Amino acid sequence: MRAAGRRLGLVPTMGALHAGHIELVAAARREADAVAASIFVNPLQFAANEDLARYPRDEAGDLAKLRAAGCDLVWMPPVEAMYPPGAATVIEVAGPSSGWEGDARPGHFRGVATVCAKLFLQTGADVAAFGEKDWQQLQVVTRMARDLDIPIRILPVPTVREADGLAMSSRNRFLSEAERATAPLLPQVMARAAAEILRGAPVAGVLAAGQATLRAGGLAPDYLALVDAETLRPLDAPGHTGPMRLLAAARLGGVRLLDNIAVG
Ligand code: AMP
Repeated sequence: MRAAGRRLGLVPTMGALHAGHIELVAAARREADAVAASIFVNPLQFAANEDLARYPRDEAGDLAKLRAAGCDLVWMPPVEAMYPPGAATVIEVAGPSSGWEGDARPGHFRGVATVCAKLFLQTGADVAAFGEKDWQQLQVVTRMARDLDIPIRILPVPTVREADGLAMSSRNRFLSEAERATAPLLPQVMARAAAEILRGAPVAGVLAAGQATLRAGGLAPDYLALVDAETLRPLDAPGHTGPMRLLAAARLGGVRLLDNIAVG
């Protein structure tokens, strides 16, 4: 392909694919001549107490969905191929890794940055599609590729949502019927908070009220924060000029819902 001057798009995933992942394939396809997806449940990005063992896996279903989406190649490396004995190098991204998911999941972004760098170099892709759903991850990976001069363009893809607003996620399948009915409260509260902040309401009050609404509705918020969209630094005063993002994480039963929206 490279000899023919054709461009390769990459879609890194952990499998258990849904319409959000398929949208990444479509977005990569618009920017490249061929698309490769990777499916790798990366042990390096799970902390010891996390859900690595119960992370959903559906190899046959994933391959059928990727085939239907017109994906040209699927890369499903075994763990030993990614981390052979003696592997000793990790990538630590400061800046956008700090706070939020970085605090909630120590070591998570080290694992993400390391596996993404390896996937970029293994495939030699020209462009890699990442979901805005994982906004902090998108900033970490973008920063990493730029800082390490990896010749790849990171393509952000808007979050794909269910009809009721819930952001699609491989982990949503673990929600009970009652929890699934509660979950859309998160994007509802976020949309309301973003609108109030844009109207000029005091940020701290809006965020506190939003968290209280989540708690009253049965969600346990880890954070609801207004941040600079690129640096992820918290903004608690009005008057910020650059792009802003509202970030949220909230626990519902055994599932941690993660979401974010643009403000303005
Ligand atoms: P995962 O398989 O959860 O690691 O996600 C693989 C890629 O799919 C990441 O770039 C995610 O941000 C992206 N992704 C996950 N859910 C969505 C969604 N609802 N909309 C758009 N992209 C998503």
